Amino acid sequence: MANYDFDLFVIGGGSGGVRAGRMAAGRGLKVGIAEEFRYGGTCVIRGCVPKKLFVYASHFSEDFEDAAGFGWQVGARRFDWPTLIANKDAEIARLSALYERGLNNAGAQIIHSRAELRDAHTIHLSTENRTVTADKILIATGGWPSLPEVPGIEHAITSNEAFHLPQLPRRALVVGGGYIAVEFAGIFHGLGVETKLLYRGAEILRGFDMDIRTMLHREMAKKGLEVRLSANPARIEKYGDSLIVTLEDGATIETDCIMYATGRKPNIAGLGLDAAGVAVNAKGAIAVDEYSHTNVENIWALGDVTDRVNLTPVAIHEAMCFVSTVFGGRPLPVDHELIPTAVFSQPSIGVCGLTEEAARQRFKHIDIYKAEFRPMKHTLSGREERMLMKLIVDADNDKVLGCHILGADAGEIIQCLGVAIKMGATKADFDATMAVHPTAAEEFVTMREKWKADA
Ligand code: FAD
Ligand code: NDP
Repeated sequence: MANYDFDLFVIGGGSGGVRAGRMAAGRGLKVGIAEEFRYGGTCVIRGCVPKKLFVYASHFSEDFEDAAGFGWQVGARRFDWPTLIANKDAEIARLSALYERGLNNAGAQIIHSRAELRDAHTIHLSTENRTVTADKILIATGGWPSLPEVPGIEHAITSNEAFHLPQLPRRALVVGGGYIAVEFAGIFHGLGVETKLLYRGAEILRGFDMDIRTMLHREMAKKGLEVRLSANPARIEKYGDSLIVTLEDGATIETDCIMYATGRKPNIAGLGLDAAGVAVNAKGAIAVDEYSHTNVENIWALGDVTDRVNLTPVAIHEAMCFVSTVFGGRPLPVDHELIPTAVFSQPSIGVCGLTEEAARQRFKHIDIYKAEFRPMKHTLSGREERMLMKLIVDADNDKVLGCHILGADAGEIIQCLGVAIKMGATKADFDATMAVHPTAAEEFVTMREKWKADA
């Protein structure tokens, strides 16, 4: 048997790579892991974590307003962007160090370098200008923002730069209608930036339940955040400190900052996939089977670089299945069904399972249960924000096929309901569960009236 430097070499120190490296090293394997930027990857450094901190920051403007109805007089308020950035950076440095410590404690060799494949067992570490060999290789290099070719696109930022803007712009234009676009539009707006969201399609958040999409749009508009549909920039021009964005229909918008959130592409450029013989699929992602195995016998890939479901818990789960399959003697295919997810828009969204539209296509008879109401908090705050909860049920066997929430704490609620739905809960199980009163979530166990009969 060939003598390799490592039993496993992991390329990429993000959510998936760190988990796999740590677990494999914990089993006594000789593990090397290379990260070209900072350990923690997209989620910790420029994704989930700083984004959620920004969401908290931006929500205070409404919280101060809402306090008045409860008797609080809040004095003069001023938001300081450099304070938020500095505190966020300190927290990210703490988390990144924790990721490294976890790897270290497990016995993995941490390498601060870009890594590229030279062949199926050889990795070149460019920062250290040396090569190492490994019996098995895991590619977990994540993704990167993808921008369309629009004249003047060099004036646009992406979410990467939004976390480090030297100052908060007075006006911002966000392009896209997916997770990142709606989350950042809410962040900018909440921080007092005059914000517009431009989406090329008929309604934001394609792929989500239509009731949720239209209601989020309505709630954003109520807050004063302008959402323009069927709108897309044709060119961007810079005049002094301002940007003039000309849309495809000829209309113009003047802004100080244009942020593109038009999707992400797998990080495979210059990775040496050809040299190692690793196949890529039509979407430009590394092609893998349900065990995250590539076409090359000793190489696996997981997380965003495989473009299956691009979420941190999914990358982590794929990593645990990989370690169990390859080193644990227990083959574990990744189950991508019924993944609960949240969009940290304002109000937020929580989803698990099928949309009404998808359920109607796949099942013969479905029942819909819906509750739309003003959350209790807003009876005193006076805010006109409404909440939506929706259950989609297979009328033939009573199984809950989908659950959709728009409103405060949607992510927290859907995490718990996700367990029930994953277990195959029926509507009768929901009905048999005692309510927690007074909460918003109790609506899910008290919805008795079908909203609409079979399609
Ligand atoms: P990553 O975390 O991207 O890690 C890949 C790592 O590989 C990076 O650190 C990169 O520097 C490194 N790398 C790349 N190439 C090389 C190389 N050749 N050599 C060495 N190192 C290399 N998901 C959620 O579940 N919830 C959220 O709220 C959420 N919010 C998000 C917000 C934003 C703005 C973004 C952009 C993403 C968000 N995501 C969220 C998605 C989540 O961040 C990703 O799904 C997750 O980070 C993917 O993990 P990964 O291990 O595949 O890749
Ligand atoms: P998404 O794929 O979610 O959304 C991309 C958006 O950009 C879509 O509205 C798409 O429109 C639009 N778009 C794509 N190409 C163009 C173009 N050429 N011109 C104009 N608009 C375009 O990607 P994001 O960048 O928002 O996020 C990437 C992924 O990261 C998410 O899908 C998610 O997996 C993950 N993420 C998760 C979060 C969470 O869990 N809360 C938060 C942030 C990110 P169309 O729909 O018409 O194709």
